[in-house]
Amino acid sequence: MSAPELFDTHAHLHFPDFADDLPAVLARARAAGVSRLLTIGADVETSAAAVALAAREANVWAAVGIHPHDAGEADDGALAEIERLATAPRVVAVGEIGLDFFRNLSPRDAQERTLRHLLDLARRVGKPALIHCRDAHEETLAILGEARVGEVGGIMHCFSGDVTIARRCLDLGLTISLAGPVTYPNARALPDVARFVPADRLVVETDCPYLPPQGHRGQRNEPAYLPLTAARVAELRGEPLATLGPRMSDNARRLLRVA
Ligand SMILES: [Zn+2]
Ligand SMILES: [Zn+2]
Repeated sequence: MSAPELFDTHAHLHFPDFADDLPAVLARARAAGVSRLLTIGADVETSAAAVALAAREANVWAAVGIHPHDAGEADDGALAEIERLATAPRVVAVGEIGLDFFRNLSPRDAQERTLRHLLDLARRVGKPALIHCRDAHEETLAILGEARVGEVGGIMHCFSGDVTIARRCLDLGLTISLAGPVTYPNARALPDVARFVPADRLVVETDCPYLPPQGHRGQRNEPAYLPLTAARVAELRGEPLATLGPRMSDNARRLLRVA
């Protein structure tokens, strides 16, 4: 049986974790059926690296943004550089951007200001937004609503809320992305979310090198493990992976306008 076609909608392939063996990582991804990947910047330096990688690899696209952890450093120069990178070839989204009140590595007002600024950039360049949200659902959803994010579209990446939050994200026009935690035996709300989200609004991701699925916990995550997450989502929904996988890939391609 051949592997179902999958799109890894959130990877950090250009991070140093993959510097020594990226060609092998990409070969394993292809062999596992992960035929398209989106590599995502978290600050100016990693956004530039994402753009450079996507320029070299035919099946890799890039997103540029400033992660809430780095929002404290997002001065005018950094924001201008992200704006310049956002129009580079093969940049298909603005992200990751958002709020993280779990670790609070940047002051909250800086996180909110940077998120608003980069949502406005997404609108100006006409590309969807990739949202990181941890322990900040109320604040994030309020800002996304004010920014009318549905008009450009976006992905709530590594979704960590419950069905109520998922419904609110769908109402805002967002797509929901599930990552490795949906495979964990102690996942509480995520199995219900996996069953709840309509099939045309669902995608999957690795968030590699972070958040490996069950069976690889404690290791570096990589795109070749994405089928484990996709298979768990398919199982929870009672759908064959052979149909859900390509369907989720189509959702990502439509939103990101990727061939
Ligand atoms: Zn994130
Ligand atoms: Zn990420």
